[in-house]
Amino acid sequence: MTRAGYRGRFAPSPTGALHAGSLVAALASWLDARSHQGRWLLRIEDVDTPRCVTGAAEHIVAQLERCGLTPDEPPSYQSQRSALYQQALKQLVQQGLAYPCGCTRQDIAHALSERGQPRERHAELVYPGTCRNGLQGKPARAWRLRVGSGQVSWTDRRLGPQVQDVSQAVGDFVLQRADGLWAYQLAVVVDDAAQGITHVVRGQDLADNTARQILLQRALGLPTPRYLHTPLVLGAHGEKLSKQNGAQVLDLSQPLAALAQAASVLGLGAPAADLPGSLKAWTGQWTAQWTA
Ligand code: GLU
Repeated sequence: MTRAGYRGRFAPSPTGALHAGSLVAALASWLDARSHQGRWLLRIEDVDTPRCVTGAAEHIVAQLERCGLTPDEPPSYQSQRSALYQQALKQLVQQGLAYPCGCTRQDIAHALSERGQPRERHAELVYPGTCRNGLQGKPARAWRLRVGSGQVSWTDRRLGPQVQDVSQAVGDFVLQRADGLWAYQLAVVVDDAAQGITHVVRGQDLADNTARQILLQRALGLPTPRYLHTPLVLGAHGEKLSKQNGAQVLDLSQPLAALAQAASVLGLGAPAADLPGSLKAWTGQWTAQWTA
């Protein structure tokens, strides 16, 4: 990878403002791009429209701006890129790798219990493959990827070697939902490739999606970027911070303090005491530390 070819991105879903955890991912992806003298893109992942909050995208852009994390290109919005996702689905259908599925959640749960497969609370339902060989008279609802021998190995830059058997862990997964919305997995893979992303830096809670995304890249003949998953920021009770559980909105009245907090999660030391208190000086010092 030539340094000049590096393209990274931060890809928040506009379901709320940035919180302390998402700022860590934003800062890490920005620092990684800077330290590779690469470009840093912002992609607003607003495909799951029912979960998007009006004004959140603009708010996120402003929060990043306040922290001095300015993208090198105008932000892109997934809601404007449906044609690309449609094209990718069409390609997969033509290759016999995507099929329509008529199962409701209930159907899937029922099929699993008939097979005696225990269900853990909150666990994702492993699709039992009911519609793989046809809809059996049911109307098509969603589109799924036909996962063959789904064993995927990859190396995370922080977590090291990873392996997941996608057929065991999730089964044939959804590409387009029953409500017509594009699934995150398809949209993220199409966009990372279309935008020439070479390095994905994001929160560790997304690591589990990587094997699915690599399978999709292979199915679509797309390159696999390098992955780095950053440490999570946990709440006072050890819970994952998320916009859904009302993670505290970032206080950006002192952007340096918020950034210093995020930097410490990444193991970056506080800048030297004699450093001027400017964003540029601090982020410059963290970039040097990150490179080292
Ligand atoms: N939009 C996703 C989220 O906010 C992140 C996508 C990614 O970085 O791959 O959870």
